[in-house]
Parts: sequence; structure tokens; C-alpha cells
Amino acid sequence: MSGPGHVFIVGAGPGAPDLVTVRGLRRLHDAEVVLYDRLVDPLLVAEAPEAAEKIFVGKEPGRPGIGQQGIHALMIDRARAGLRVVRLKGGDPFVFGRGAEEAAALREAGILFEIVPGLSSALAVPTHAGISLTQRGVAHGFLVTSGRRARAQAAAAKADAAGDEQAATVPGAGPRRDVVPNTPGRAMAPTGEPMAETIVVLMGVARVQEIAADLVRAGRAPDTPVAIIERGTTPQERVICGTLHDITVRAAAAGLEAPAVIVIGAVAKPHQSLPRQEPSPTLDRAELCR
Ligand code: SAH
Repeated sequence: MSGPGHVFIVGAGPGAPDLVTVRGLRRLHDAEVVLYDRLVDPLLVAEAPEAAEKIFVGKEPGRPGIGQQGIHALMIDRARAGLRVVRLKGGDPFVFGRGAEEAAALREAGILFEIVPGLSSALAVPTHAGISLTQRGVAHGFLVTSGRRARAQAAAAKADAAGDEQAATVPGAGPRRDVVPNTPGRAMAPTGEPMAETIVVLMGVARVQEIAADLVRAGRAPDTPVAIIERGTTPQERVICGTLHDITVRAAAAGLEAPAVIVIGAVAKPHQSLPRQEPSPTLDRAELCR
């Protein structure tokens, strides 16, 4: 009989495998089981010992995954077998990652666990692309929000019962009844003053048009700069720039796809960003944002 198992909920960082934290990497090197999501680079998973059991638990477009309850059950099962389990999640585990639900399930099951934070794409992706979310005299704060949100439970149950197909769709994954569109205008109180906070939207590429229109309704100027960063920090990183007025057309023309981070506000103006500090095989931001 081995000792008590332990689960480490580890943030994998925003994309590039070497943007995991030192602590996260140590936990991976000691892992006996790794449960990983879709946005985690295979090279990072490969940092776990060869003998470790590696289980993909992500949602693939068009295919049902093992589901959140399935993930909880698997973590609990392996930990009860006395194993060191790493639950590897994209970005930071508590930023739109359901990491808190996983921690709660472990607590309830009496399993020891540790949370290892990760660099969230919400911050690291704009920074890597040379966009400073706050900037003296330009933006004095930022709001991070999601392009979709969970339905209130009662509404979700009702929609399920009614076979409601109007719920938000996840690209390629068919309609999901547990999520509805979310638009950042809800969070912005119109004050009559120029609004200087940067807005960062995750999970929003499928709804750029609604998000832009909503922000204009909430009081943002149509010429407010917008930058969308696709597959940030990876060799496939692309940045599309525009304004609330034209970003939908530009994103469509570029064939932009998830995962992408949307940055809205004066800091997203092409000339505000810094030149890249490293040689990059991708197109230069200036080139794409002309
Ligand atoms: N916990 C994660 C976010 C999970 S939600 C984190 O902290 O980063 C998934 C969303 O994150 C995607 O829809 C996208 O908006 C964003 N995202 C994750 N990786 C990204 C990347 N490499 N480039 C751009 N956006 C990314």
C-alpha cells in the first residue's frame, strides 16, 4: 500500500511550453499521472516521466469529452490509488478554467491538493505581442472578461427541457446549453467620461461582432483600437488590429480562429506597442496591423 495520493492543479502557462513556472515544471517531473487539457502543448506533457500515465481530458471540437464530473472522478481515483497526480490546465487554472471546481471536488473527497498558479493568457498573450495592458497616461487599469458565461442554473435546466438550440455555440462543437453569450458592455457603467480601462476578452472570437457593437452601445467610441492575438506566445502567433468599427471584417478576412485574446482600448493601437524583443518566425505585428 502506497502513501496518500496528492493532486497538483498546475497552470501550464499561455501557450509556449517554456512559459510554465519553475514550480509547475518540478511538479510535472515528479508526476505519476498527468491529466491535461487541449490547449496544453504536448512538449510540456512530455516533461512528465516516460512511465507516467498521461490522459487527455480536454474537449475536442465535435466530440464529447469525459466531462467535468469525469475529470473529478479520475483525479480522485488515481489519488486514492496513492499516486501523484498533476492536473495540467492552460494558462492559470483559476482563470476561466474551472480549476476552483476541481479543487472543491478534491476537498470534498478528502484528497490533499496543491494549486500551482500559471501565467494566464489574459495577461501574457498581450504582453508577448508587445501590448501593455496598462500604460501611464493611456490606460489606468484593465478588465478581463469572457465572451460567454454560464447560464444561470434554472435557465439552463429550462432550456434543456425545452430542447433550446439558441444557446451559444462553441465553434465546431455544436450548441452548448450551459453557456450563453457574454458581452463586456454589461460591466461598463457609462459615466460620461472617456473610458480609459483596457478590456481583455477571452473566448470571444466567435462573437467579435456582438462584443464590438455592445461596447459602442455602452459608450465606447467606434474608433477605439482593438487588437486580436491568435495562438499567442506560440510560433503561430498572429495579431490582427482594427477598431470597434472594423475589427469584425478584419478578423473575418484574416480567418481568425480560437484560441485568441481580444484587447480593446487605446493601448491596442499599433504604434503604442513595442517592437518585438526577440527574433520571431511569425509575421511582425507592425506588418499585420498596417
Ligand atoms: N485558464 C486559461 C484560459 C482558459 S479559457 C488562461 O488563464 O489562459 C480559453 C481561452 O483562453 C481561449 O478561448 C482564449 O481566449 C484564451 N487563450 C488561451 N491560450 C491562448 C493563446 N495561446 N493565445 C490566445 N488566446 C489564448
